[in-house]
Amino acid sequence: MKVGEILKVLESLAPLRRAEDFDNVGLLLGNTQQTVTGVLVCHDALEAVVDEAVAKNCNFIVAFHPIIFGGLKSITGKNYVERAVLKMIKNDIALYAIHTALDNDAAGVSAYLAEALGLQNCRFLVPKKEQLRQLTTYVPEANVNQVKDALFMAGGGHISNYSECSFSNNGTGTFKPEEDATPVIGAVGKRSEVNEVRLEMLFEAGQEAALLNALKQAHPYEEVAYQIYKLENESSNAGLGLIGEFENELSEADFLQLTKSVLKTPVLRHSAFINKKIKRVAVLGGSGSSAIHAAKRAKADAYITADLKYHDFFSAENQLLLVDGGHYETEQFTKYKIADFLKEKLPNFAIILANTNTNPVNYL
Ligand SMILES: [Zn+2]
Repeated sequence: MKVGEILKVLESLAPLRRAEDFDNVGLLLGNTQQTVTGVLVCHDALEAVVDEAVAKNCNFIVAFHPIIFGGLKSITGKNYVERAVLKMIKNDIALYAIHTALDNDAAGVSAYLAEALGLQNCRFLVPKKEQLRQLTTYVPEANVNQVKDALFMAGGGHISNYSECSFSNNGTGTFKPEEDATPVIGAVGKRSEVNEVRLEMLFEAGQEAALLNALKQAHPYEEVAYQIYKLENESSNAGLGLIGEFENELSEADFLQLTKSVLKTPVLRHSAFINKKIKRVAVLGGSGSSAIHAAKRAKADAYITADLKYHDFFSAENQLLLVDGGHYETEQFTKYKIADFLKEKLPNFAIILANTNTNPVNYL
C-alpha cells in the first residue's frame, strides 16, 4: 500500500480543509508514492516514538500534533524536534499530522471526550466561521439532475447530518452566441431564450476546485454561468469544542470525580465551586482558554479544557466551573480513535498504536 492511499483514508476521517490556518497538517515528511510497511499512530512524533516505529517495522507515523510547526531552517539535531525529524529522514519514515483538522470535526477530539463523559445532544461550542460557500448555477431543465448528481458526488450540498441539500427554481436564461462560439443550444448571432433552472447549494471552503470541475464536466453548455458567494453563516459541519448535557445533573464534587476518572488523571485544576448542579457541560480537548466566553454564553455549568492560566480561572466569575484537565489528558482518546478508524478502513494492514507515553507533564 502507498502513502497516498492511506492519505485518502485519513482525509475521510478529518478533511484537511477544516484545519485552522495557523496549523501545519497533512503529510509533513515523505511522499505519496512511498510503499508503507506499517502505520504507527501516536500523539506526538518524538524520537522515542520513531524508535518504536523502527522496532515495529512501521515507516509511516500518523501523529496528532505536528512536530514540525514553526518551520525548520536547519536540521542539525540541536533540539528534540530536529532529532526526531532527522531520525525519521534517516529511517525513510513518512509523517502525517492531523491536529486541528480533527479538532474541528463533530466526531473529532472533543467528541471523544464528550462521549467518554456521557454527554448527550452535543453541538459545536465555537462553530467555524468563513467556512461556507454557496454555488449558484443555471442549467437547462433537461440537464438539471445530471448536474445536481455531479455536484453532490463532488461533496456539495452537505449540511450537518443531511446530504444532497439544494434549492432550485425555474426561470428564463438568455444569451447570444458571438462569432467564435460553438453553442449547444441556439445559433451564432441570435439571442436564445431557454427554460433554465437556477440551482443553489452549499459547500465548504477547500471544495471549490472539485465542485467547479464537476460542474463543468456535467453541464452541457460551452460557457457555464455560475456564482460563488462567501457566507457569513456559522458552519454546522465544523467547529471547535462541543457542548452537551448529562442525562442527570451531578453535584460539583461528583462531576469533578467523574472527570478525573474519565481523564485517568491524579489531579485537576478548577475554579471556585459555584454551588450549582452540573448538567450542561462544554468540552474542548487541548488548549481552550479562548473559548471560555463561548462556554459562558452557551450557559454551560462547567467547561473542561486545558492550559488555563491563573487569570483565566478568575474569568469563571461564579458563572461556571472551569476545569483544566491537562493538555495530554483531554486529548488522550484521539490516538485510539485514529487507530480504530484506520483499522476499520484498512482491516488487512498493519495499523499499530504506539505504546510510548509522550505526555511531558508529570505529577508528584
Ligand atoms: Zn494538543
